[in-house]
Amino acid sequence: EPVVANDFIRDIVRRDLEQQTYGGRVQTRFPPEPNGYLHIGHAKAITVDFGTADDFDGICNLRLDDTNPDTEETEFVESIVTDIEWLGYRPAAVLHASDYFDQLYEWAEYLIGKGLAYVDDQDTETISAQRGGFGKPGIESPYRNRSVEENLDLFRRMRDGEFADGEKVLRAKIDMNSENMALRDPVMYRIRHSHHFRTGDRWCLYPTYDWAHGQSDAIEGVTHSICTLEFDTHRPLYDWYLAQLPLPATAPKQIEFARLEFTHTVTSKRRLAKLVADGTVDGWDDPRMPTLSGLRRRGYPASAIRGFCREIGTTRTNSRQNIEALEAFVRRELNATAQRRMAVLHPLRLVIDNWPTNADGTPVTEYFEVTNNPENPEDGTRQVAFCGELWIEAEDFAEVPPPKFFRLTVGREVRLRGAYLVTATSVEKDADGEVVAVHATYDPATKGGDAPDGRKVKSTMHWVSAAHASRISVALYERLFSAPVPGEATGEALDDVNPNSREVLGECWAEAAVAELAPGSVVQFERIGYFALDPDRAGHFHRTVGLRDEWAAIQRR
Ligand code: ATP
Ligand code: MG
Ligand code: MG
Repeated sequence: EPVVANDFIRDIVRRDLEQQTYGGRVQTRFPPEPNGYLHIGHAKAITVDFGTADDFDGICNLRLDDTNPDTEETEFVESIVTDIEWLGYRPAAVLHASDYFDQLYEWAEYLIGKGLAYVDDQDTETISAQRGGFGKPGIESPYRNRSVEENLDLFRRMRDGEFADGEKVLRAKIDMNSENMALRDPVMYRIRHSHHFRTGDRWCLYPTYDWAHGQSDAIEGVTHSICTLEFDTHRPLYDWYLAQLPLPATAPKQIEFARLEFTHTVTSKRRLAKLVADGTVDGWDDPRMPTLSGLRRRGYPASAIRGFCREIGTTRTNSRQNIEALEAFVRRELNATAQRRMAVLHPLRLVIDNWPTNADGTPVTEYFEVTNNPENPEDGTRQVAFCGELWIEAEDFAEVPPPKFFRLTVGREVRLRGAYLVTATSVEKDADGEVVAVHATYDPATKGGDAPDGRKVKSTMHWVSAAHASRISVALYERLFSAPVPGEATGEALDDVNPNSREVLGECWAEAAVAELAPGSVVQFERIGYFALDPDRAGHFHRTVGLRDEWAAIQRR
């Protein structure tokens, strides 16, 4: 990993260090709202927030932005903590915006006292209609010029629960004609008689994001508050609030960068929550989900996600990355680290008619030593059983071979990887005429897979000894969103959900060593792809990625 990456955020931090803006300190935070699980977009924010602090010996806290009681839950907090740790980062502290509700309330009274905030009795629709637009002046609320005493009295009664949801709000008194809509008297507090998962029923008044965020940063001593580009126009408001308050230290500064988006992927918690709620997926950690927990279950290494985030860098230009580019990172890493195993996903029986039997009539078992990972000799070798009845991949046999089909067909010799050369002699069919078994003979002189007379065969196939095989099930995945830009056609990304994103193969066979894999581990099933053993379901594998580098192919086009 490079010592210190160069990007515009690190340039700002470096300058602040040189100028002693914050007394030589660097403190960032990662501030998710606990209203869902973290997704691949959050991974980018995490690597930027934690990575920037790390590079300058600073600290980065996790701050749960829990200011909206209706959508937030402890389950989400726990998953966020777990996922950050899995990604390889450790927050200096786990903090909650809700811990600052008292301070925020006090500061709101302080602003009221300075004539900089007022209680508005109008409903949200009216307030937003009066906000106006670009080149269109705003309309001042008839309640804008209430006295400090009246505002204080009303605000305290709002806090004490005297009013119903939506009856009143507290607004900052800034400028209804500002060119920046964010400064047209933004709402600071709304009334919500809801139970909060941490503060319970103590509050019926909750701060908006804009009012809570910068102030929470200041309370914690954040120096650089890094967020995504959509908050760009909120920065003057971020600065305005901080400028009005009696802060003991230099105010933090907000820095924005472009969100990470991918083709065939949605990174909106609201939409991901909908997929979970309506049962389109099994849960937030379904391997098809772009959540960190889904990708983990799918077998994505955290290091591949970090590597990708580093590779694309941090910019202020919104763009959509090709999902194949991320998959290429995953594949490259797994190619180096995943052990090889043999598994047959669509089994077809191969019977070797001249296979020897023992004195007691049982078939002989032979063991072949095979390399666990040719990319990593340290992974060593293992013994794989070979016998007279094997499973081969149904697509590796053709009764009537199409042109350029070089795999098994009656009368042709092929190599069973690492074992013997075999020649198919006949087929067995069921009542419907389907081939249910292929008969073959083997050449005992080709042990290890090479003929002493040097004759060549055109293909090498994987196999599993039927008597020794471990039964497994496998889930194959297609894109969860069929369109490259979900929602491009209709405006709603969920319209592009692929109804056939998962195919489960319930009766697959793998070599016996697969039974010893640790839950969650990823292997390469030879000639097929990379597969992750489900952490909770014995013998169930998820296809992580295929073997083909689609990204390289796309780039060559
Ligand atoms: P969503 O729209 O999915 O709810 P959000 O921005 O509201 O996303 P938060 O949980 O509030 O989600 O985000 C926590 C942090 O992660 C914020 O700083 C946010 O800017 C950042 N973040 C969220 N999505 C992305 C993304 N796609 N790329 C980069 N950073 C992101
Ligand atoms: Mg948010
Ligand atoms: Mg959000």
